[in-house]
Amino acid sequence: MVEPVMLRPRRPCPICKKPSAQKYHPFCSARCAQVDLNRWLGGQYAIPAAETDTPDEEDQS
Ligand SMILES: [Zn+2]
Repeated sequence: MVEPVMLRPRRPCPICKKPSAQKYHPFCSARCAQVDLNRWLGGQYAIPAAETDTPDEEDQS
């Protein structure tokens, strides 16, 4: 007996962890897709994303 696979487990967006959209798979939006692209190209985020694990502020007076 085989279980009917009607809903494939969707992977969350690797950028913001939101449910991915079919249109922008595996991302949730064009923005996250762009963020990931820039991430690979430049090695850093060119677009402000939700993730800010790299404190690089030079705001010391
Ligand atoms: Zn996202």
